[in-house]
Amino acid sequence: MTRRRWIADTWNKERTEAALTGDQAAHLARVLRAQPGQIFDVVADGFLHRAEVKSVGDDEVTFALHEEQEAEVALPVHLLLAVFKFDHLEWAIEKATELGAARITPVLARRTEKHLSQAATKRVERWRRIVREASQQSRRTDVPEVDDPVTLKLFLPTVDANLKLLLAETEEENTIRAALEAAPANGSIALAIGPEGGWTADEMQLFRDSGWQHVTLGPRILRAETAAIAGLAIAAALRN
Ligand code: SAM
Repeated sequence: MTRRRWIADTWNKERTEAALTGDQAAHLARVLRAQPGQIFDVVADGFLHRAEVKSVGDDEVTFALHEEQEAEVALPVHLLLAVFKFDHLEWAIEKATELGAARITPVLARRTEKHLSQAATKRVERWRRIVREASQQSRRTDVPEVDDPVTLKLFLPTVDANLKLLLAETEEENTIRAALEAAPANGSIALAIGPEGGWTADEMQLFRDSGWQHVTLGPRILRAETAAIAGLAIAAALRN
């Protein structure tokens, strides 16, 4: 039986009790009219438990945590997503979460529109809410990390992945599939997707200098959000 899954806001050290607070509690109490004794799946500290509702309030719903359940393994993909039009970017963030991305870094690229770069920092909390909701909806046991928006130059040297792939519509030969198949099957992957205007030549060089392979998704020019989803779906298909 598929039970509704919640990601707890608080839990005790022993993982015998957990609680939902704020909007999650209000939703469970007022919309779903939860009752003590009801059984749900609750993720606490990254661990999935069968859980029984103990008390229901508009501000807090508490659970007794029962046996731990087997949980799926996350896809070890770190997505570097250039900031582009927020409605499209937010769609990509939601879908990337459903597909299993472990971490998402919003990158302020040269061709990210100026007003989007300026507004990005204020949107991060919304992006973190989106990944949390998408994690619950897609029954993940973890919530992908969403970093504060960063510039490429500062961030690239810090990326630590076994395989670093830059999705580039200018690449004609090296396919993402070939790059993934040539790499060890259990290594971590970083995937970078450019903004609507694409990466600049300087940025492409910066990636090369930092050990990133340029890879193609095929001969068509995809919108950035399509490229992000396609890249992740291929990685998921080859690594899950
Ligand atoms: N610079 C391009 C232009 O204006 O003609 C388009 C950039 S595309 C809309 C946005 C991003 O999606 C690119 O920077 C790249 O990361 C990715 N992308 C789009 N099509 C791709 C393809 N066929 N192969 C690999 N990446 C692709």
